[in-house]
Amino acid sequence: MSKPEAAACKRSSLLETTGQQVDLAAKKLGLDPGLLKILKEPKRVLSVSIPVRMDDGSIEVFRGFRVQHSLTRGPGKGGIRYHPEVDMDEVVALAMLMTWKCAVVNIPYGGAKGGVICDPKKLSLAELERMTRRYTSEISIIIGPEKDIPAPDVNTNPMVMAWIMDTFSMQHGFSVPAVVTGKPIEIGGSQGRNEATGRGVVFTIEEAASRMEINLAESTAAIQGYGNVGSAVAASLNEMGCRVVAISEIDGGIFNENGLDLEELTAYKTRTGSVVGFPDAVPISNEDLLTLDADVLIPAAIENQITTENAPRIRAKLITEAANGPTTYEADQILFERGITVIPDILANAGGVVVSYFEWVQGLQNFYWTKDEVNRQLRRRMVGSFRDIHHIKEKQSVSMRTAAYILALDRVTQAMKLRGLYP
Ligand code: NAD
Repeated sequence: MSKPEAAACKRSSLLETTGQQVDLAAKKLGLDPGLLKILKEPKRVLSVSIPVRMDDGSIEVFRGFRVQHSLTRGPGKGGIRYHPEVDMDEVVALAMLMTWKCAVVNIPYGGAKGGVICDPKKLSLAELERMTRRYTSEISIIIGPEKDIPAPDVNTNPMVMAWIMDTFSMQHGFSVPAVVTGKPIEIGGSQGRNEATGRGVVFTIEEAASRMEINLAESTAAIQGYGNVGSAVAASLNEMGCRVVAISEIDGGIFNENGLDLEELTAYKTRTGSVVGFPDAVPISNEDLLTLDADVLIPAAIENQITTENAPRIRAKLITEAANGPTTYEADQILFERGITVIPDILANAGGVVVSYFEWVQGLQNFYWTKDEVNRQLRRRMVGSFRDIHHIKEKQSVSMRTAAYILALDRVTQAMKLRGLYP
């Protein structure tokens, strides 16, 4: 399969997987087929052309999208992805996931997502800024603190959010910090936003472990991905005494049965750009990491990693999906039949959007919280949502994922019914 074909296959399956999970939960809920039909379609899709003056004086035209899947429970919320292979289908699938994620943790948002087809590594900083500002201007007709609030995603960061906030503010003639989240702290960002997703992942692991009688202080963990999320998860687990025995990245992984020295590893990655070749560990492939004999497995990289091929061989008791969509629909059924607990992405990695919500609230009020307050409120939300989902799981004898979708669909459709169908 060629690279673009493989990428297209991967993308359609994220949309497909999400659709299959929604269907399953809708069946359990006995959902009105008409409401389901509405939820299978994005509410609004904007495709924009972004002309940019390049440093050499030529003009390049990029294609960008902003998709709002549902605005029933509040303004749209979701990141902006800069990637050469991003397309409309992927953005629609990710916007849909945001609707369920926001509903699961009960924050008053709908789901949205944005993307620009570009390779940021090939753009200068000035070109990236001009592209971001023009994209912001093009989508400014549908974003805003009450309409849709973007955030960082793959290849976008606090600096990009600062440009978006500034462009939108210039158009309006006053500062509008609440138009984006994930901003630098100096211009209205929230304390604790950077590590919020990883922290949230660990709060859900603690809840699951206590129910499964896993003592984290005597356990082992394997983590795929040592980026923003994976490294924060590793550090938090390590603080609890859990031995992180294996970590892998795009170019390979490392294993030490006594536990990896994470401080040394982080310094090594900063120096070399990768975990591969870390001394005091043996090499391990991405595939072998997934089937390793560790108590907790945390996919924290990309989608479609746990498949029908490896699901029968997975040895972890608990899988916590820090990444979006790391498990295919069929693999999920295998894990459920094998009695392996999976904390689904729409719960496990919701810590980022929860703290984004706190940032938005702080921006609207111009009143900023301490890091302790942010973390306390984050724990409260994550633990509360875990318990709600666990309750449905027990009552209906379904997986944590199906329970999460039931909760999300129920919340969204209740809101739809209360608002009614316009006109
Ligand atoms: P990141 O870019 O900081 O790190 C990604 C990591 O995945 C890197 O270590 C990279 O080497 C690894 N990776 C990439 N391709 C891989 C492959 N084929 N095999 C193995 N490893 C591979 O990204 P991040 O922000 O840490 O996000 C990781 C995942 O978490 C993504 O699925 C993202 O959508 C999801 N997520 C992130 C956030 C957030 O707040 N950052 C929130 C919710 C969900």
